[in-house]
Amino acid sequence: MKYRLIGTAALVLLLAGSAVRLFAQEARYVFLFIGDGMGFGQVQAAGLWAASQGAGELCFTDFPVQGFVTTHSASNDVTDSAAAGTALATGRKTANGVLGLDAACAEPLTTLGERARRAGCRVGVASSVAVNHATPAAFYAHRSARESYYDIGLDALRAGFDIYAGTGFKEERRKGDPDSPNLYDLFAGAGYRVVRGADDFPSAADAAEKVLFVQPADAANPSSLPPAIDRRAGDMTLEQITRGCIDFLGSAAADGRPQPFFLMVEGGIVDWLCHANDTAAVLAETYDLGRSVALALEFYRRYPAETLIVVTADHETGGLAVGRGETAPMSFDALARQTASVIGVTMRLRALRDARPGETVLWDDVRGVLRESYGFWDYTELTPEEETLLKESYEESFRSQEGPLVRSLYYAVEPVADCAVGIVARRTGMAWGSGAHTAAVVPVYVLGAGAERFAALRDNTDIPRAIARAAGYPGAD
Ligand SMILES: [Zn+2]
Repeated sequence: MKYRLIGTAALVLLLAGSAVRLFAQEARYVFLFIGDGMGFGQVQAAGLWAASQGAGELCFTDFPVQGFVTTHSASNDVTDSAAAGTALATGRKTANGVLGLDAACAEPLTTLGERARRAGCRVGVASSVAVNHATPAAFYAHRSARESYYDIGLDALRAGFDIYAGTGFKEERRKGDPDSPNLYDLFAGAGYRVVRGADDFPSAADAAEKVLFVQPADAANPSSLPPAIDRRAGDMTLEQITRGCIDFLGSAAADGRPQPFFLMVEGGIVDWLCHANDTAAVLAETYDLGRSVALALEFYRRYPAETLIVVTADHETGGLAVGRGETAPMSFDALARQTASVIGVTMRLRALRDARPGETVLWDDVRGVLRESYGFWDYTELTPEEETLLKESYEESFRSQEGPLVRSLYYAVEPVADCAVGIVARRTGMAWGSGAHTAAVVPVYVLGAGAERFAALRDNTDIPRAIARAAGYPGAD
């Protein structure tokens, strides 16, 4: 009898405990940052680089709870961003290329954004690339092919989140169907205020019910913000996007404080630059994502007991090795002299071609671009071998008016620029294993309400489960 009583009491306590776990909302404000392609090497090297420049530390690397997770998909040891995004958004594995459906593409999976909305939270999804690119799409779309951009855009409309932010939509009309309704018009018709550019944001978003926050119409690249290293005055930044989302989501007050919200922010260009093995640009981009996390930290300082910040990656890209052996000391000198990304330098070299149609571009002119973009010769003295490598790639590249380009997943770059970033990586003491994704585990950094729930993560699918528990989102575990 005594045992039964103890047993019953234990059961009651257990049930009470699970009720608290299921329904309590420890984390009223949830931030999930995803550095696409941002492995341990990228974060560590970005921190070392920042320290060498006397810049502030990456703000998330001293978060109190840290760990790592595996990233394999249901179909591959090496995931893509669609499957990894789905894992982070739904807690379920799917096949590469699939968004928000199970691996058989039979059942839709419920996303954190959808669960947050059901729980009465406001929801935002933001990225430095297109709103309907794989990672942001994983939080609202249910499609068997990540390339079905138009349908994914329709899914965003259907999900009805409060704010979507990024460069805009890839394929604003259905491919091959010029008469299909334009996604921007559909959003405007559904009550979204379409805000183009950060300058207009504060006035335009004020009093708007829902917002689609995108680049100005004349932006140079419709699919990506300029990489941080290429940024010019007036370019839209991920920091502005994040600030806009926080201001908008945090503006709706209830009981004298903001309504609960869930915001996912993707640093999408880290991955693109990792595919191109452009070390300096990757580290600048990773550091730049830290500036957006710093905005969440500002918010956290206002509501420390109710704010949860999670920073992680969907996968590692490029197999970045930090250090090339004890006889090759690491040095950030060459890196610090680089003033443009591979794609930025390619544009500068393209301008040389375009300046004199039909004529061969001279080595001296190319040297001028390399001098300006990498500090070669002026600050970084090249070895004869490095100089030969550059000259050979120049000859390969500029033999004809339309030289062959070096292609990575997102960029096609001039061979000279590709050669130059290889020299910078070697001089910095870093090495790239490939131009593709890897199966490496990725880091997780957590701060705030419910952070202790993230102490023993193993797999990327554990992250949304921990978030949902901390935030009290209803639905499948
Ligand atoms: Zn990628």
